[in-house]
Amino acid sequence: MSLIVQKFGGTSVADTEKIRAAARRAIRAQQQGHRVVMVVSAMGKQTDVLLELAAGVCERPPAREMDMLLSTGEQTSVALVAMAIHDLGAKAISLTGGQIGMKTDNSFSKARIRSIDTVRIERLLDEGNIVVAAGFQGIDDDLNITTLGRGGSDTTAVALAAVLGADACEINTDVDGVYTTDPRILPEARRVDVISYDEMLELASLGAGVMHSRSIEFAKKFSVPIHVRSSFGDRDGTMIVAQAESESAAVSGAALTKDEARVTVLGVPDVPGISRTIFAAIAAQKIAVDMVVQNVGEEGKADVSFTVAGNELASTLAAVQSIVDQVGASGVTHDSKVSKVSVVGLGMAKQKAVAAKMFRALADAGVNIHMITTSEIKISALVPRDQATQALRAVHEGFALHERPADAKTWNEIKAETNVEADVNDVVSRLQNDALEALTLTDIAVVGGQARVTLDGVPDRVGVAADMFDEIGRAGIFVDMIVQGYDGEHGSTSVSFTIDEAELEDALKVAKEICDKHAMRNVRSAKGITKLSVSGIGLRSHTQVGTVLFDQLATADINVEMIATSELQVNVVIDSTKANQATERLKTAFADALS
Ligand code: ADP
Ligand code: ASP
Ligand code: MG
Repeated sequence: MSLIVQKFGGTSVADTEKIRAAARRAIRAQQQGHRVVMVVSAMGKQTDVLLELAAGVCERPPAREMDMLLSTGEQTSVALVAMAIHDLGAKAISLTGGQIGMKTDNSFSKARIRSIDTVRIERLLDEGNIVVAAGFQGIDDDLNITTLGRGGSDTTAVALAAVLGADACEINTDVDGVYTTDPRILPEARRVDVISYDEMLELASLGAGVMHSRSIEFAKKFSVPIHVRSSFGDRDGTMIVAQAESESAAVSGAALTKDEARVTVLGVPDVPGISRTIFAAIAAQKIAVDMVVQNVGEEGKADVSFTVAGNELASTLAAVQSIVDQVGASGVTHDSKVSKVSVVGLGMAKQKAVAAKMFRALADAGVNIHMITTSEIKISALVPRDQATQALRAVHEGFALHERPADAKTWNEIKAETNVEADVNDVVSRLQNDALEALTLTDIAVVGGQARVTLDGVPDRVGVAADMFDEIGRAGIFVDMIVQGYDGEHGSTSVSFTIDEAELEDALKVAKEICDKHAMRNVRSAKGITKLSVSGIGLRSHTQVGTVLFDQLATADINVEMIATSELQVNVVIDSTKANQATERLKTAFADALS
């Protein structure tokens, strides 16, 4: 008999009528012959209500007690859903995270799943029950209640689908699928039929709140197809699977992290090992950093800037302050009024001038870009928060995301032409461990023969990035990584990009023209550099990746010239003469995580 996991989010169980509707949907699935496991979130905004309650009694509540409190939201809703099912004449049993044997590590409020015991669930299903599991929660080795982080019920659902070998994993929510961007912010957003794991993983991590990004890590790792659909209708929604909707589109979605914060560590000596110390201190707090940019200034001093989620700014600043003296930095600045707008698409890896198009769209909308980072399938720009929605709309329009690409395929079309059956043995072997959410790396690889061009003294003004990359695009030069640092101290900034070494001469010519045109300070370049890429799943959220990487390179005295992080890859640019040594070191250091 087939097994189906049905997850219901907060809005979908917000009141008694909705609880009964969710119960009816599960019963219907059971009557159609499926074994049904429901995963349920706390009712409506209950988790926020509990957070407020906590804030009322304690300024900095102990993390353990916070998880104890927050888990009650889901405990309430599963009991009510099970009761509703009974009332409608079917059999159901509700279970807490502990009762489904959801073992996690002990990082309260962002616990990672280690293992799930399926024996009890299977037995209850065999007895004809609908199993109603509490989302978002687990227990650690000491039987403390833990939670997985906001939005974590998605991860419970996909993890259960993976370990139970479910035939389908339905995410029932208040929107009828995944859109090209949050339809609540941009009503013109388009619902997509299909989106790939990689794209959804990046979008979720960059602010698309429709799915918890860690649930997509599970889905990709264990080949779980996800169906995101509305709780309130019967229409098919969006399939999240290995394939993309369109092969031609450079960009398939845009996302906004409204509440982002920038931190800059000023005047650190530009020697190997500095980044290691800074980022190890932050990673120790399990804080994910993004948009890491190092600007090499005058006199061998560098400014290191990065962004974190706004609600992690205080803990990030505390972590950074603790090592300011140790790294010999001259100070730390931050900006809490910034937002990050990003575009994501599998297609951009192979197309020219995608970044230029994004910068042009932002420039035309009058949006100033504070920082830029790119990686193989995403481009992010840091913008002033009061222009956030404007910026999102501009890039959405710039890439015509409201229009369905001509070669877009439906899930049925994709299914018909590919063998989408998961490699069952492969998945089972990956499941036989007690570290379900452990770091998984797929590759450590290098691309040599690269060159870097850096423009210093780039005026901090609307339209400069657009103009630069328009010019470079017109010269037919393929740009790989782009970073623009923050340099509020001088009213100007540096922009670096990498290209194929063979194109350096052409690129320098264009760069010099740009430099003169905008009265920039100077153009620098470096040849003989290599891009080293660590690929895997969920690399940004597994904060140890950066720590190990920086640690290994610093120990070998290898300087990191540029860095770009995403959920799929961490890329660093280093001197080519060090490439072999770096690769070997990393392969050894990450041996356990390499599949
Ligand atoms: P649930 O409580 O069911 O988990 P969430 O509020 O967590 O629901 O997620 C659904 C919401 O995600 C939608 O109402 C929508 O505003 C938001 N959202 C953000 N980005 C997207 C997107 N790209 N596609 C669809 N919805 C999105
Ligand atoms: N109730 C939790 C939250 O609001 C988990 C979830 O809904 O996914 O974040
Ligand atoms: Mg959610």
